[in-house]
Amino acid sequence: MTPLPPGSTIGILGGGQLGRMLASAAAELGYHTHILAPDAESVAAQTASSFTRADYHSRIVLDEMAARCNVVTYEFENIAIEPVTYLSTRVPVHPAPQALAIAQDRASEKAFVDAIGGRTAPWRRVATLDELQAALTEIGAPAILKTLRLGYDGKGQVRIANAAEAAAAWDAIGQRPAILEGFVSFSHEFSIILARGHDGAMVSYPPPWNEHKDGILARSSLPAPAEIANQWGVAAALTGRIADQLGYVGVIACEFFATAEGPVFNEMAPRVHNSGHWTIEGAVASQFENHIRAICGLPLGDPSRLSDARMLNLIGDDINDAEKYRAMPGTKVHLYGKKETRPGRKMGHVTFVQPISAARRPAAE
Ligand code: ADP
Ligand code: MG
Repeated sequence: MTPLPPGSTIGILGGGQLGRMLASAAAELGYHTHILAPDAESVAAQTASSFTRADYHSRIVLDEMAARCNVVTYEFENIAIEPVTYLSTRVPVHPAPQALAIAQDRASEKAFVDAIGGRTAPWRRVATLDELQAALTEIGAPAILKTLRLGYDGKGQVRIANAAEAAAAWDAIGQRPAILEGFVSFSHEFSIILARGHDGAMVSYPPPWNEHKDGILARSSLPAPAEIANQWGVAAALTGRIADQLGYVGVIACEFFATAEGPVFNEMAPRVHNSGHWTIEGAVASQFENHIRAICGLPLGDPSRLSDARMLNLIGDDINDAEKYRAMPGTKVHLYGKKETRPGRKMGHVTFVQPISAARRPAAE
């Protein structure tokens, strides 16, 4: 496609921090952004050019958005599929609704990856307690029960240590359709963040080591230890196959477990990802810039790593440490502009950077 000229407007569904950072990147590239979100507080609107506070399901609002935007994207994957599909009949929407539909459902996501030769944990879709018990017999314990839809930051999932815990686990997730996954014994977790353009060109970032606390990403570090670096190629190739199969345009993130048998695919996000925030300071072109470039038809930016980097999420009261971090050398503090601090809420992040010379960059990068 011919690149969208500067001054074009990018519509973003969703008002969170990912939209906020996408809007900043879009502005640097000369684009306007328009946010649609229903929430009273939309931190994305603070950095965007314009904002409509409305429900995603109003046809009038969607028609208006389609009319004022040259392209539309979304910043969270739990958005209802209907408005996204509706918009896509009126304005280019990237990533395409098909990718969103697959990523929204843990069973279709795993089945899709299995079908293209990726490795996943053993899993079964379960819709009743009987099915859960049968799946536990097949897969064995320990295992993890995850709701099919709407889970994030460890919400909507519960660990099962032995078969006797099945009924309690089924109740704990609200007796909803779910998948049971065998517990993966991994040395590290990591993610592949990859951008794919309209022309099929792809770039991906060096994978960080991701550490979680209470189901929420706490820290992403680069360079990653050898256990991850050794699995980068296989995991990036799988992520590229996923993107190709979906005809994907934009940034996609896939989470992996590094195991002795190689990378095990955990889940995908059809969007920019928390574990890619380090790219703002640590890479030539950030994940946000590359998402905007991809959906606007610009050539993709350079994902090379400029710096050793450690990204620390500021969750809940961690925001009180912002001043301390800001005073340290080599840090960059990002605050998301959220009024209310709540436990488990992502309030900001800090990136510790340590610039590296090209000579010291690991050869694999
Ligand atoms: P969310 O959508 O909440 O991020 P994930 O499926 O990524 O859900 O699970 C959250 C975290 O739980 C993972 O990052 C990992 O630490 C742990 N986890 C999830 N599935 C498994 C598994 N099959 N085996 C071991 N640990 C897991
Ligand atoms: Mg996850």
